[in-house]
Amino acid sequence: MHELTLAREIVAIVQMAAQNQSIHHIRRVRVELGAFGHVEEKALQFAFTAAVNGTLAAGSLLEISRLPGQAWCYDCNKTVALSTRLAPCPLCGGEKLDVIGGNELRVVDMEVE
Ligand SMILES: [Zn+2]
Repeated sequence: MHELTLAREIVAIVQMAAQNQSIHHIRRVRVELGAFGHVEEKALQFAFTAAVNGTLAAGSLLEISRLPGQAWCYDCNKTVALSTRLAPCPLCGGEKLDVIGGNELRVVDMEVE
């Protein structure tokens, strides 16, 4: 299951960060998720709850914010926002686009005690 792999990655990242900083417990983890990431938020939440068991992040909250998709439009010569991966350019309607953002999963920060 895709989300479980992601959840384990998130937990591994925050766990390592916490150990480096001698933090004992993580209360909240904030992640950013790209719009094209094919990740179901509910499934990720569920997987996270399981993945934190027995770690420094046990019982912590996962906060997910969605990042818009981004593409480079060759006709407009600039970066534009995309709602879906196959959408045309919102400015000129063109389709000469290079998707440059929207697949990321990033741990932004965490709240600790
Ligand atoms: Zn354009």
